[in-house]
Amino acid sequence: MKAFLINVKNCVGCHDCQIGCKDEHCGNDWGEYAAPQPEVGQFWCKVNQYERGHKPHVKVSYVPTMCNHCGNAPCMAVAKDGAVYRREDGLVLIDPAKAKGQRQIVDACPYHAVYWNEELNIPQKCTGCAHLLDGDEPIKVPRCVDNCHVDVILFGEEEELGLDGTEEVLHPEYGTKPRVFYRGLPKKFIAGTVFDPAEDEIVEGATVTAIGEAGTYFATTDSWGDFWLRDLPDADWTVTIEAGGKKKTIQTSTVSEDKGLGDIALV
Ligand code: SF4
Ligand code: SF4
Repeated sequence: MKAFLINVKNCVGCHDCQIGCKDEHCGNDWGEYAAPQPEVGQFWCKVNQYERGHKPHVKVSYVPTMCNHCGNAPCMAVAKDGAVYRREDGLVLIDPAKAKGQRQIVDACPYHAVYWNEELNIPQKCTGCAHLLDGDEPIKVPRCVDNCHVDVILFGEEEELGLDGTEEVLHPEYGTKPRVFYRGLPKKFIAGTVFDPAEDEIVEGATVTAIGEAGTYFATTDSWGDFWLRDLPDADWTVTIEAGGKKKTIQTSTVSEDKGLGDIALV
């Protein structure tokens, strides 16, 4: 069975995968595989950009997304006349002819991966470029994969991809069994800059400890006085900063967002 594996940490946000998808599908009719994608309004491959934290402690993360070719696909469940089907290789396809007028297929996808083509009166989405996999072209992978010059998006048989069970999927709570796997999805962080107001200096080498129900995490302030507690679960935290016999405690939370705590006076 085929799968996608996306190594998010190496993604530079160049959007070449998204552009490759557009180049492959906009204005091109791939028959039973896919009708032409409109020039605007649809992103079968989409690079989501997340700006995280608070100035000056900010990070930008990019997460490429597409149809997850779910093993338990809600879009298939609502489709009539076999308009959405799973191939032997695992790819989930929409038959453009059979799917005419079936707008419920768009609404059924919890990932919002299906788009409605008003002009053609059909739902459309990523096909895994099945026409390339089956055809005579030299490219034997989806165009997003071929277009990514830093090999962030991989596609192939599960065994070839070296999946070891540590990969993540988007929204596992949906129970859809996605076949698009991720490594390095962004996790929350808490960051700040520690300074000593009495000395009017940043504090290097302060020990920073975050304690919460989810565990205990450590960091040390660098030569700029900055600390970054990385890869935190979504949780409430007691953050303690200690240096030179001084100690400061801050209550904070990463349940809904990353935290840039700004300048912190150690008194
Ligand atoms: Fe269907 Fe959406 Fe899953 Fe793709 S991501 S298989 S469109 S439910
Ligand atoms: Fe990221 Fe590769 Fe897409 Fe560029 S082409 S945005 S590096 S996945």
